[in-house]
Amino acid sequence: MWGEPVLILMQANATDSQIEAVVRAIEDLGYRAHVMPGATRVAIGVTGNEGAIDAARFENMPGIAEAVRVSKPYKLVTLDFHSEKTVVRVGDATIGGDDLAIIAGPCAIESRAQAFAIAETVRRSGARFFRGGAFKPRTSPYAFQGLGEEGLRILAEIRETYGLKIVTEAVDEAGVDLVERYGDVIQIGARSMQNFTLLRRAGKSRLPVLLKRGLSATLDEWLLAAEYIMSEGNSQVVLCERGIRTFSQHTRNTLDLAVIPAVRRVSHLPVIVDPSHGTGKNYMVTALARAGVAVGADGLIVEVHDAPAQALSDGAQALRLEQYEQLVSEVRAIHEVMAPAAVS
Ligand code: PEP
Ligand code: MN
Repeated sequence: MWGEPVLILMQANATDSQIEAVVRAIEDLGYRAHVMPGATRVAIGVTGNEGAIDAARFENMPGIAEAVRVSKPYKLVTLDFHSEKTVVRVGDATIGGDDLAIIAGPCAIESRAQAFAIAETVRRSGARFFRGGAFKPRTSPYAFQGLGEEGLRILAEIRETYGLKIVTEAVDEAGVDLVERYGDVIQIGARSMQNFTLLRRAGKSRLPVLLKRGLSATLDEWLLAAEYIMSEGNSQVVLCERGIRTFSQHTRNTLDLAVIPAVRRVSHLPVIVDPSHGTGKNYMVTALARAGVAVGADGLIVEVHDAPAQALSDGAQALRLEQYEQLVSEVRAIHEVMAPAAVS
């Protein structure tokens, strides 16, 4: 039987050494401790192996206010025990902080020249993150599957040249090893959202994880996928709404913007919007990007290409370079007028 996690709430004046002592006690019992700093006091999540965790064991330690069993389906992603928003840090860049995070680049890395031409514009726009797939989860096995490790080497060069943080997809566990070597953020694609061994592997990584919503995932399923990652010790998770499958035929997917405030209500994790996969159509991307920021997203992930007509994947939704530049100036202006409460 898998035991329900326990949440330890420290007293507001608990000292660092009291917190460390609690963590040590948890680990000595063979459990895992998740320290979650809050505005006024620290909470420590306790997850374990098999069997119930005895909350009473912790109650009398110095600095502890209370220890409670958590019976909700999600424990680590929820606001209930961690009321402050998570700010994911990628070097000196952040997702979920005051800045609007912009992640831009091609669907797939196709060549060094293509990637550099796009990265140049992305850098100039002031975005801090560059995206590009080296391993592409394509619907057809005959479609371009990505350049593999060669694509990652190009991404690493882009990081070196422009100082952009690299966001790139891992489709399997070996892919996580490679992203750890060459990238900065592990993207888990919509098709992999319920690949639980992959989620667990990403949860063991030191890198933040961008978790896309599955093609037909409910909010609960999506949050539980994030919970898989966090339960392995990685608290640096960014959620990404990228559209879901509906009966509509005017778009590739239906971008569910209502899920942004819905996530905000229950989770402290940052959440961003992908208007590219969310619409599948170049002419809709800017409009939905504006809407995504207006609805309170912490950032955007946008596909950009220097020659969309020649793109080897997702050309129909790629923005041209000048369209992308215009989008950035518009969404920045929208973000500027938003009250902090709307995005925090
Ligand atoms: C992508 O970002 O190019 C991609 C494959 O996205 P998704 O997993 O959302 O389809
Ligand atoms: Mn794509």
